Amino acid sequence: MSKIVPSGTVRQNILVEITKIGTEPWTGNNRESGVGSFGVNTFNDQVMRERLPKDVYVKLRDTIRKGAKLDQSIANTVAHAMKEWAISKGASHFTHWFQPQTGLTAEKHDAFIELDENGMIERFRGNQLVQGEPDASSFPSGGLRTTFEARGYTAWDPSSPAFIVEGPKGGILCIPSVFISYTGEALDKKTPLLRSMEAISTSALRVLRMFGNTRATRVVTTIGTEQEYFLIDRTFFNLRPDLLITGRTLIGAHPPKGQQMEDHYFGSIKERVLAFMQDAEAELYKLGVPAKTRHNEVAPHQFEIAPIFSEANVGADRNHLTMEILKKVANRHGLALLLHEKPFAGINGSGKHNNWSMADSEGNNLLDPGDTPEENLQFLVFLVSTLHAVHKYGSLLRATVASAGNDHRLGANEAPPAIISVFLGERLSTILDDIKAGKGTKPTKEYLIDLGLDKLPSILRHNTDRNRTSPFAFTGEKFEFRAIGSSASVSLSNTVLSAAVADSIDVIADEVQKLVDGGQALDKAVLKVLQKYIIKTEAIRFEGNNYSKEWEEEAEKRGLPNIKRTGYALDALVNPENAAMLKKYGIFKQVEIESRYSTKLEQYITILEIETRTFIELLNTKVLPAAVRYQTEIAEAIKVLKDVGMQKSSYESRWKLLEQLTEKIEKISGGIKSLRGALKKAEKIKKLPDRAKAFSDTVVDLLQDIREPVDELELLIPDDLWPLPKYSEMLFIM
Ligand code: ADP
Ligand code: MG
Repeated sequence: MSKIVPSGTVRQNILVEITKIGTEPWTGNNRESGVGSFGVNTFNDQVMRERLPKDVYVKLRDTIRKGAKLDQSIANTVAHAMKEWAISKGASHFTHWFQPQTGLTAEKHDAFIELDENGMIERFRGNQLVQGEPDASSFPSGGLRTTFEARGYTAWDPSSPAFIVEGPKGGILCIPSVFISYTGEALDKKTPLLRSMEAISTSALRVLRMFGNTRATRVVTTIGTEQEYFLIDRTFFNLRPDLLITGRTLIGAHPPKGQQMEDHYFGSIKERVLAFMQDAEAELYKLGVPAKTRHNEVAPHQFEIAPIFSEANVGADRNHLTMEILKKVANRHGLALLLHEKPFAGINGSGKHNNWSMADSEGNNLLDPGDTPEENLQFLVFLVSTLHAVHKYGSLLRATVASAGNDHRLGANEAPPAIISVFLGERLSTILDDIKAGKGTKPTKEYLIDLGLDKLPSILRHNTDRNRTSPFAFTGEKFEFRAIGSSASVSLSNTVLSAAVADSIDVIADEVQKLVDGGQALDKAVLKVLQKYIIKTEAIRFEGNNYSKEWEEEAEKRGLPNIKRTGYALDALVNPENAAMLKKYGIFKQVEIESRYSTKLEQYITILEIETRTFIELLNTKVLPAAVRYQTEIAEAIKVLKDVGMQKSSYESRWKLLEQLTEKIEKISGGIKSLRGALKKAEKIKKLPDRAKAFSDTVVDLLQDIREPVDELELLIPDDLWPLPKYSEMLFIM
């Protein structure tokens, strides 16, 4: 027999290497605060003012404030100034930076050069700024481009500032863009998001006017995205083909210590991680991303970063940038950043808490109760509208967060469940219950005093009722939608949420208007309509533990959907009632909805196909060989004992072990066969939605079931034979 270097030895050697990291002498605190460098790599207002002729600057600023399209007449001047600025910052290339339907962001770099009779010159024209043409043919379009036009173009979205990403040999000017087909269909995630912001602006302004506000000219949605992630040493990552290819561990036994002690959450941050965070934040600052909060999360090696909130479209861009920068900087620190929703089974997964609110053009937060009873009443209209939106379009919201990765999280016992409910906290619940009970028959002021509502502003602002298990929680002056996956773009969820709220605001405003037109006083009319919708939406209000079995049963009684797998959850996207709302508000055309539906189905299937193939390869090339080696070793040991004449009692335990090993090896081999069969069967199904459902029904469970004997093997096989880094190493050594 040839001499084999046990793969486990490689694993053990790297532990020695990792242990050496971070032992260099610490040079003290000589870093800058970072505040001075905030936004230095963005083409921000100050730069525009400095570099543009006054009239052009004013025009551009108005465009940005209004969220309008760029005036072609100033495009050349703006482009030139932007190029000069970018070159002064060391950039040599530009790219339209956009969000295709899959993947995170896309870019294709072009140099600032042109050839003319004098040779090569640096130039950047207005039409390159306003409109660029990526080779779009390989971006997923869910059939859109085949139906319509083969190509699309990208166009600058001036509401999001251009920025420079520093590269090792020069920077790249990134121009935040939308991506549209020549016939006008949105091929990206940003365009619908912008459309949804238009929709909510129109609807919310109507309510503001109703309450006598004549100043506000626009309403925007604001978001602040808390981003969770894991960090592990890069060497471990490289030794795990499953992490490398699928982003999650497809196998891996539970460590003896997981997160039971809760000693990681908000604990002190390890120096190696802190150094990474500080570098990442410095990069983000330069890009104008106001990273504010950092802390350890519940699981070992899990962390969170959150920015100061901004307008939704800018916030979505910033979240993309945050993910990109975190990944890049982690690499520099010899770390691997895991954005997958469930990198480690049995350990908390990662999500995004999408803090969401609405603000008017004067900066007033519409989900912040005001100082007067009228403002409180207005606040209640927006609050109940949001409740109604989530009640009516809960399944649609659920669909926006559906993905293969997030399926491991939603419905597990530590994540927001697949059942969409809303948590309001005790104070607000009482107020709504009182309105429901019909205590709103007196004039507003009196009525509010009656309920103790004159104290509402201060009480609510300090309302820190928390329910960490709710997928949609009111947290003082904003809602927090927590079901979004950690690797996902927040765009679609915010698009749908804003559209649904716009719709609900209109429903409520229409009814109020009707009563007012019929002669009712505004406050009475509002309370009457609110009462109706408080009753109507009661089913989704839940203050208890969302992770409990009891809630699942209770939710079923209430008729709330609980769709656990993506193959089924996505159907809500094409549900006629949901689609009608999205079309009514001009968010999507029917073809655009269908394109998203099929893109998401395809993505889901593809991910599961890749996971299945990676899993089978892992078992065949790593797990089974290690198991068989050990099996042989034990068998030989028994044989030796037998040969020298030992009784069976002397090798009884090894015999048992051999049986165990053999049983698991056979189980795994059989499992591979079933999995191959299921994959083949599912892949044969012609209709995409049915194929996705077949994956949900068969492949997902098989991946889970076959992993069990594998994880048991990991605990039986000698350490020096086990070829993969273990949970106890990846999650505790850094
Ligand atoms: P918590 O979840 O404990 O309230 P923070 O107060 O840090 O934590 O808020 C979390 C996120 O919510 C941050 O990104 C913050 O900027 C954002 N946020 C705060 N107010 C709003 C708002 N009005 N609209 C959108 N996001 C907001
Ligand atoms: Mg929060």
